[in-house]
Amino acid sequence: MNNPALFDSHCHFDFPAFDSDRLVLWQQSTASGLSGLIMPGVSPEQWPRAARWCRELPGLFYAAGIHPHWIEHCIGPQQRWQQASDGLLSAQTRAQIATVIGDDIARNKAQCVAVGECGLDKLIAVPLALQQQLLGIHIELANQLRKPLIIHSVKTHSEILACFKQQPPRYGGVIHAFSGSLEMAQQFIARDFLLGVGGTITYARAQKTREALRQVPIESVLLETDAPDMPLCGKQGARNSPHYLPQIAQCLAELRGISLDDVAQATRRNAQRLFGVS
Ligand SMILES: [Zn+2]
Repeated sequence: MNNPALFDSHCHFDFPAFDSDRLVLWQQSTASGLSGLIMPGVSPEQWPRAARWCRELPGLFYAAGIHPHWIEHCIGPQQRWQQASDGLLSAQTRAQIATVIGDDIARNKAQCVAVGECGLDKLIAVPLALQQQLLGIHIELANQLRKPLIIHSVKTHSEILACFKQQPPRYGGVIHAFSGSLEMAQQFIARDFLLGVGGTITYARAQKTREALRQVPIESVLLETDAPDMPLCGKQGARNSPHYLPQIAQCLAELRGISLDDVAQATRRNAQRLFGVS
């Protein structure tokens, strides 16, 4: 049987969780239909690692950005970038951060296909105003460099939309691991954002999200595993892997009443269109 080619638009394949068996896993995943993946950026120390893997394995791409969970690691009194007395970033620090991200993207033109992952997260202790400042830096940079954005949004869809309204991203992007209502999905789609579909849809309890992803146009959907996180239903507690992407694709196909081939082709085309990957 021919496996349909699938693209994993969000996979932290450079993380240490894959150090012991990355190459074997890549072989297994490509044998079961994976054609490529994007490793999102989390911190300046991590981008070169991701870029190196892109040079070793064809089909791998990455993005450069500061993930909300890594903000504390990058910013603070002991860190590379300093906060001003009000806890926010000075214009000088914002410019320094933009330069570092921009330089990395310029150095790795062929491999670096997006800005991110960046965004907002209400479940972490980092003040929202600081997270918003960082998101603003990423949006501005994406607009300057004509790149799409990879957005992390946890319980902050309205706040993200407010940021987009104030500072509209011009080259679209993806709301990674989208979870929410059809109405929310449509608001992101109206701003040229795609929705990243991962393991969440394999859980029957995610009814609202499943219903939204059943109804949105297939042109607005990307597949993702978010490995090593976000295990599929039945695999809780275990390491997630790009090897499981076909199961997410199958679940989406059943949900929408279309073939696995149709899901594979459409989502791969969407990734090619958004990120310019082949
Ligand atoms: Zn991620």
